[in-house]
Amino acid sequence: MKILLITEQHEAQWNRVSFETLAAAQQIAEQTKGSISGVVIGKGVAALADELAGYQLEEVLLVEHDLLEKYTPDGFSAALRQVIEGAKPDLVLLPHTYQVRDFAPKLAASMQKGLIGDCIGYRHENGKLIFVRQMFQGRTAADVVFTGDAPWIVTFQASAFRADLVARNASGKAAVKPVAVELKPEQIRTKPLERFREAKQAVDLTQAPILVSVGRGIKAPENIAMAEKLAKLLGGEICASRPICDEGWLPMDRQIGSSGQTVAPKLYLALGISGAIQHVVGMKASRTIAAINKDQNAPIFEVADYGIVGDLFEIVPALIEALEQSK
Ligand SMILES: Cc1cc2nc3c(=O)[nH]c(=O)nc-3n(C[C@H](O)[C@H](O)[C@H](O)COP(=O)(O)OP(=O)(O)OC[C@H]3O[C@@H](n4cnc5c(N)ncnc54)[C@H](O)[C@@H]3O)c2cc1C
Repeated sequence: MKILLITEQHEAQWNRVSFETLAAAQQIAEQTKGSISGVVIGKGVAALADELAGYQLEEVLLVEHDLLEKYTPDGFSAALRQVIEGAKPDLVLLPHTYQVRDFAPKLAASMQKGLIGDCIGYRHENGKLIFVRQMFQGRTAADVVFTGDAPWIVTFQASAFRADLVARNASGKAAVKPVAVELKPEQIRTKPLERFREAKQAVDLTQAPILVSVGRGIKAPENIAMAEKLAKLLGGEICASRPICDEGWLPMDRQIGSSGQTVAPKLYLALGISGAIQHVVGMKASRTIAAINKDQNAPIFEVADYGIVGDLFEIVPALIEALEQSK
């Protein structure tokens, strides 16, 4: 299987989800005895291509053009179509970012190919790849297969694969091959304005190794200080379910879930969170999940590795005391 991995960067800075998709590409390549070509697209991105070449893949295709300096759906889909037609891959993998959501359907449609978007995983069965994607707000997971000829285009959801498992190239670096694409200004029908930036976040929750997350079980805003103290003692950050942020008890950028952040820390400690699907989709990839909830039937226990059925107002102070004593 020949895999084409399309990475994403902005102003010569990686979108780190690219490395999660590289991890997926490496797994698929290993199982299918395939090869990976990584694509770096933009302008002034040769250093990123060189960095990517240090990972385990066969080659890096460097696609640079003045008209690719700023992202436009017309420019990126026209350029990537030429790259795909030249490289003739079986499988094209992309991270499921806002940008990819914008141009990938156009790219697939222009080639009259199917696209399976927002996948959370895949299986390799009887020589065939089956992709798994959630449906109905994550209530069910569907197996989806391609019909028709390659190339097949797939995007993987953030946190579906672990970027820290990505393999480096043990024997030096892969070759970086510049690929020329033809683009004319009149092909680009939109004029990019300044890139939308979300309000500056006080903390990047995706980088925190430990997250203490509070839900409606915390009952009142004044009780959040207790959870913050626990987070600090553990060396982690505080975050929350949506109702807590909707109430303004914590800022919106601390919300985890389908309409908040997606995280995958080493430890996710859920305090008084029921485990609604919209919350779980944002944290289920955490390496270890521990939950404290007084309802033994709370759905959070279905995804938890460790569950404590009890009152958080008894358990959290006891944890704080134990941690303070051990310092
Ligand atoms: C379109 C849409 C998008 C959404 N996006 C998100 C999202 O991004 N993130 C998100 O979180 N939600 C989201 N929601 C809301 C989601 O459906 C749930 O309503 C929400 O996650 C519930 O939050 P919760 O678990 O804190 O509260 P609840 O469901 O009220 O759960 C509180 C839990 O605390 C437990 N509890 C109470 N007292 C104690 C105590 N003393 N000790 C221990 N446990 C206790 C209870 O047993 C209960 O399980 C979304 C909903 C919709 C419709």
